Amino acid sequence: MSVLTGRVLDPTSPGWEGARHNFRAAVDYSRLVPKNVVFCQHKHDVRNAVTWARENGVPLRARSGRHSYEAFSLVQDGVIIDVSEMDEITVDAKAGTARIGAGVFCLDLHEQLYDVGLTIPAASGASVGIAGLTLGGGFGVVSRKYGLACDNVLGVELVDACGELVYANAEQNADLYWACRGGGGGNFGIVTAFDFRVHPVGMVAVCNITWQWSDFIAVADTFQHWAPSAPDDLSTFLRFAVGDAPGAGTITLFGQLTPDSPQELAGFSALLAPMLGAAPPTGISVQMMPYSYAAAMFAGVDPKNPQWMIHPHNDTQYFKSTSAVAYEPFPKAALELLKAQLELAPVQTGWDTNEPSMVQLLAGGGAPGRVPVDGTAVPHRDAVCVVQYDAYWTDPADQPVAEKWIEGVRTSMLPYARNAYVNYVDLQIENYLEAYYVSNLPRLIEVKGRVDPDNVFNFPQSVPTMLPDKPA
Ligand SMILES: Cc1cc2nc3c(=O)[nH]c(=O)nc-3n(C[C@H](O)[C@H](O)[C@H](O)COP(=O)(O)OP(=O)(O)OC[C@H]3O[C@@H](n4cnc5c(N)ncnc54)[C@H](O)[C@@H]3O)c2cc1C
Repeated sequence: MSVLTGRVLDPTSPGWEGARHNFRAAVDYSRLVPKNVVFCQHKHDVRNAVTWARENGVPLRARSGRHSYEAFSLVQDGVIIDVSEMDEITVDAKAGTARIGAGVFCLDLHEQLYDVGLTIPAASGASVGIAGLTLGGGFGVVSRKYGLACDNVLGVELVDACGELVYANAEQNADLYWACRGGGGGNFGIVTAFDFRVHPVGMVAVCNITWQWSDFIAVADTFQHWAPSAPDDLSTFLRFAVGDAPGAGTITLFGQLTPDSPQELAGFSALLAPMLGAAPPTGISVQMMPYSYAAAMFAGVDPKNPQWMIHPHNDTQYFKSTSAVAYEPFPKAALELLKAQLELAPVQTGWDTNEPSMVQLLAGGGAPGRVPVDGTAVPHRDAVCVVQYDAYWTDPADQPVAEKWIEGVRTSMLPYARNAYVNYVDLQIENYLEAYYVSNLPRLIEVKGRVDPDNVFNFPQSVPTMLPDKPA
């Protein structure tokens, strides 16, 4: 019989409550009380946990950075196999590769790789885990230049449903390698480490440009025709944040230029010219800084309150986020609809201390757009932009109205932006398998049926071993 090894916690252990909670505060944690949380330090701890769970008929979940929007990395009466202490990074600069432990958090990753002048495309969220991020695709501010996180994976080491350590790359277990690049976290095994291709990085330029709300249509329309075809060095996203009254919202363009040489930084303003001409900006900030400073800035790290550095999961937040993909530019009617929907946002209690609710357009194109739709499991390669819908609140009493509103925004925009990004899991999405995986779904089911026929790695919205029969 197997035993659990590593740092094994149960409800009597000190630190139990902190260990069993995830990032998102708006989750009913009273329905997600595990039997054990195992903080694995070595791959054999992961193997032991999978084998122990199977021998004892206990459900299991993998966990890395705890950012699953629907807390799919937690399970009632099960074992949480947490890899966050497997956070070693080993760089082979000569080969241009790095072995990255499955538990590394993204800001730590940006900072540690930058120390040796390197990077990979990874999330802007500080404590997003590299495993959840990469298994679902993963975009960051250098994605238009270097691709999605998963596009840079050369190989994946994981523990399979039998508790065996396997390696998947283009030569061995090629189908599993394909599925692990966009097929979604938690579906095919528990990743212990990734081998990544790394890229040189140095100084970057970042911008923050604002406009008044009344320029919504002109700014949005210019953005959607400009940003997806901008040079690969430039990644941008446009944020529409609601205000405390209709018409009081703010529009902000965030961007980063990541050039091959510092001499090219001076060209940033010229690249921004179409946006500056869309409507008169109310504020323009363009700064040059080392890449790691920009990563911390995009992660929203407050240098005066770096509490998350002591306990990264203290940065809990009440929010509901969801997504869709726009494959063509929005017609004017769609932009008008989006503006009107944002103006219907519920008034937020204590809104001056909270993040405002918002919709963000994340520019497509660039390197991710050049990967064939079936080249990895990520299907949304031809996106003009990924649309991110975010409702925030502080008073738990505001949750139902905030969630209903943001779901209304998403569904009203479905004629113009459809499907969804699997890293923004959302239990409200009907036909979620088709929405997340589109034409790659049949192959994912086929791989799942082969590598995990007993469906050990299951959770709400997991890839099934076969599709349920549709009613005639
Ligand atoms: C504040 C914030 C910022 C974000 N920023 C970005 C961004 O910039 N770009 C972007 O693309 N996405 C972003 N996301 C979305 C993020 O990519 C997903 O939430 C992702 O699934 C988080 O992974 P995790 O490891 O942190 O979460 P977890 O909750 O630990 O895991 C997420 C899923 O992956 C599975 N999983 C975790 N570890 C493993 C493992 N070792 N092996 C197999 N499966 C595993 C879990 O079981 C779960 O299903 C952000 C999310 C938040 C909340």
